[in-house]
Amino acid sequence: MPSSPFIIIAIDGGAASGKSSTSRAISERFHLLHVDTGSFYRAVTAELLRRGVAPSDTAAVHHVLPQLKLTTRVQGRSASMEIGGHIAGEEIRSPEVNASVSHFAAIPELRTFLLAYQRGQADVARSHGFRGLVMEGRDIGSVIFPEADFRFYLHADPAERARRRAEQGHVDQIAERDRMDSQRKTAPLTIPSGATDIDSTYLTLEQVVEKLSGLIEAKLPRL
Ligand code: C5P
Repeated sequence: MPSSPFIIIAIDGGAASGKSSTSRAISERFHLLHVDTGSFYRAVTAELLRRGVAPSDTAAVHHVLPQLKLTTRVQGRSASMEIGGHIAGEEIRSPEVNASVSHFAAIPELRTFLLAYQRGQADVARSHGFRGLVMEGRDIGSVIFPEADFRFYLHADPAERARRRAEQGHVDQIAERDRMDSQRKTAPLTIPSGATDIDSTYLTLEQVVEKLSGLIEAKLPRL
C-alpha cells in the first residue's frame, strides 16, 4: 500500500468571505492542520501596536520585526502563532487591529518576515501527524504555496459579508481592507492561477464545504 501523500489546500478570499469556517470544516473532514494566516498578520499587528509602532513608521517596523521570536503552538487542529512564547488573545479582532492590519500587511519587509514562518507550517503539520494542511489567507495560492494540491478562492457579495461580520459582533472595515489588500504592490489579494472560484453568497456553510470536499475527494486518488 503506498502511504497517502501530504496534501496542501490553499483557500484565499476577501475579508469575511467565509474562509475561516470553511477551512476549519475542511480540516476536520480531511484530518488537516488548519492555518489561518490572517491571525498571523493580526498577531504581529497587535504586537507592533502594543509597542507603540505606527504602520506609517516603516523604520520602526524594520527595527522591531527581528526582535519578534515566532513559534507555533498546535491547539486541537489549529496552529496559533506565539510571539516570545505568548499567544495573543481576542485583541487581534479589536477595532484597532482591524483598522491597521492592512496597512502593516502592505509593508514588503513584514510580508517577507512572515513568509518562511508560513511555509514552515507544513513541517509543523507533519511533525504533529496531520495528513496535510489547509491554509487560508490572501496570497496562499499565489505566493506562499503556488504548488498547493488544491487552490480555492471564495467570493461573497459585500452586503452578505458585512452581515456575516456583524453577526459575529465585530466592528470591521471589510470594504476598506479589501481595497487595500487588492491594491498593494506586494502579494495583493488575487485569484491564484488555476484556482477554483466559488461564490458563497447564496450558499450555506455546509453547501460550500460539500462543494470543496467533493472536488478534493475527486482528485485525491490521483495525488
Ligand atoms: O483573514 P483576516 O481578515 O483575518 O486577515 C486580516 C488582514 O491580514 C487582511 O485584511 C490582510 O491585510 C492581511 N493578510 C494578508 N495576507 C494573508 C492573510 C491576511 O495580507 N495571507
